[in-house]
Amino acid sequence: MRPEILFPLFAPATSLSGVGPRIGRLIEDLAGPHVVDLLWHLPTGLIDRRFAPKVAQAPAGRIATLTLHIEGHLPAHGSRRPYKVHGSDETGSIYLVFFHPREDYLRRVLPIGETRVVSGRVEHYGNEIQMTHPDHIAPLEEIDALPSVEPVYPLTAGLTLKPLARAIRGALERAPELPEWLDPEFRRRKAWPAGRAAVITVHGPQGEAELEPTAPARERLAYDELLANQLALALTRAHQRHRPGRSIAGDGRLRGKVLEHLPFRLTGTQEKVIAEIEANMGTATRMVRLLQGDVGSGKTVVALFATLIAVEAGGQAALMAPTEILARQHMATIEPIARQGGLDVALLTGRDKGKAREEVLGRLARGELDLIIGTHALFQQGVDFKDLALAIIDEQHRFGVHQRMSLLAKGRGVDVLVMTATPIPRTLLMTVYGDMDVSRLTEKPPGRQPVDTRLIALERMVDVTAALKRAIADGARVYWVCPLVEESEALDLAAATERHAGLRPDFGDRVGLIHGRMTGSEKDRTMASFTAGEIDILVATTVIEVGVDVPEATVMVIEHAERFGLAQLHQLRGRVGRGERGGTCLLLYASPLSETAKKRLRIMRRTNNGFRIAEEDLRLRGAGELLGTRQSGMASFRLADLAAHDALLGAARDDTRLVMERDQALETARGEALRVLLYLFERNSAVKLLRSG
Ligand code: ADP
Ligand code: MG
Repeated sequence: MRPEILFPLFAPATSLSGVGPRIGRLIEDLAGPHVVDLLWHLPTGLIDRRFAPKVAQAPAGRIATLTLHIEGHLPAHGSRRPYKVHGSDETGSIYLVFFHPREDYLRRVLPIGETRVVSGRVEHYGNEIQMTHPDHIAPLEEIDALPSVEPVYPLTAGLTLKPLARAIRGALERAPELPEWLDPEFRRRKAWPAGRAAVITVHGPQGEAELEPTAPARERLAYDELLANQLALALTRAHQRHRPGRSIAGDGRLRGKVLEHLPFRLTGTQEKVIAEIEANMGTATRMVRLLQGDVGSGKTVVALFATLIAVEAGGQAALMAPTEILARQHMATIEPIARQGGLDVALLTGRDKGKAREEVLGRLARGELDLIIGTHALFQQGVDFKDLALAIIDEQHRFGVHQRMSLLAKGRGVDVLVMTATPIPRTLLMTVYGDMDVSRLTEKPPGRQPVDTRLIALERMVDVTAALKRAIADGARVYWVCPLVEESEALDLAAATERHAGLRPDFGDRVGLIHGRMTGSEKDRTMASFTAGEIDILVATTVIEVGVDVPEATVMVIEHAERFGLAQLHQLRGRVGRGERGGTCLLLYASPLSETAKKRLRIMRRTNNGFRIAEEDLRLRGAGELLGTRQSGMASFRLADLAAHDALLGAARDDTRLVMERDQALETARGEALRVLLYLFERNSAVKLLRSG
């Protein structure tokens, strides 16, 4: 249960004064539903009102605080003209400008003949000096009550700075002093403020330097967030390992047989990774390992060798893919090779029903099958193994942790190998997969041609069509991936259908369409006719594409490339040019491109190295975008900026390691404080792991 001291922070934002249902909804969209979310909504700028020039010296465009003698009111003539108030000091005059004002209000706050302090942006309009809608108006005696520096926050449509700033001030009043979870010596060395002081400081910047990620208060909060992340991962990791594992050691007999029949030699990096997996499976603790390798780097063979180890040791293995097509593809590539080693392999997907399904399940339960390849269907009840020893999960980010767990529950001390083709920068790896050991395939099998990548504006569709006609006449097979429309499969489909129709006048029946709404057998049929060369162009939504292997495909067209993450573009591009012919990738974009978008797409043209691309994408777009965290619910940071706080992440990791060595149950005074930290950053599930041991 959440500690009581945090209750005020997890009250709804609407419990703050001035936050009704309407503003509450806007705040929820912008920052989150709770009071604490407002604390994490940091200012990105500031308004400095300490600049107090004379009227004649007030430069246009700057925020200034002026002391004025109020000369007169000039009510509006006609509804579209503004109401003006004339003020002056000894150097000149200025007009305060109001649209649709309440006159009685203005007469009260700006009485003729008196002195008032006003603060706002100075404008020059013709020969006049003006200030439209001053932010503050106060009598001279109250000048001290005017904020001298005001934070500026990111806003959202319908929410202006004033109510948001007020809500945040309310949230700050609720912020309690929490027990210190930082190591005192570490905090002293960093000269960081205490927790509550840090929160107050970041919301009251006195100068630009305090907005920098390196400002002490910002660093402290970023560190807190990173520490919560690392600790939660470490607890998950310890928990996973704590569950009994078992030593799975093979004698190499099946691997030897398969090696004899393999049409190629393993690359050095494949051998190294297989050795890592073998050593890991051999220990008595559970393996939880991520296998990372670019598209086409040869992960499948590695998965097969891990399977062979499990089978040599008398166990069974399961390989789970995120889509039906991928499962079938794995079946098609793995089964013939596995058979050389004498393995019995079967496929199980949601499409298998009735007798066929019963038969597969029976063989699985009796231990007659060594490897089962499938989709989500493998999680389901009624899928029982005789002795599941290894679970291999392809394309991890499409499965939830819970699904992973439900597969693991089907065996005893099951070893886990997760495979991903998403190149993940080291920093992110630590924050997202910190609960796993990592193996990386760093070189590709020999003979790969880099894909020739070009950027073309969508307006040049005529040229694109002409180029495709030439390429097809030359024997090319073309993928055409349609724009990604956020969060909407229906819109994805509409775009793809439209493109399909648009290509038909030029390519007739030789254009196919594949999308997520088709039934499995419809998809199969379309894929098969593409593979067989009955269609030349396959228009696809992105739902189905990842991992699909058609060696004959040589051209990849990606429409609205600017809407994709670079990692995704890279994965798509990896689908072509697997054969000797090399490949071409056309990135079609809608102009004009923003500067960032331009930079990003140029990286695609410059390099074929997935890891470099991922590092650049992280730099240009931030972590959330890179992993598509919003969709997958993966951790993203509110306070830490991985590009700027790289070193802090390393420190948080070391700190976590010490805590795990000395106080894994979090029972010391610092441990208790760290529990509060975990709740503060909503890592509640990690605290639960503590309890269940
Ligand atoms: P990934 O799953 O990592 O994208 P795959 O395992 O599908 O890559 O391998 C891509 C292609 O490379 C496959 O056709 C596979 O047979 C081939 N391949 C894998 N390892 C080697 C190797 N060591 N030498 C030559 N070809 C290889
Ligand atoms: Mg693959």
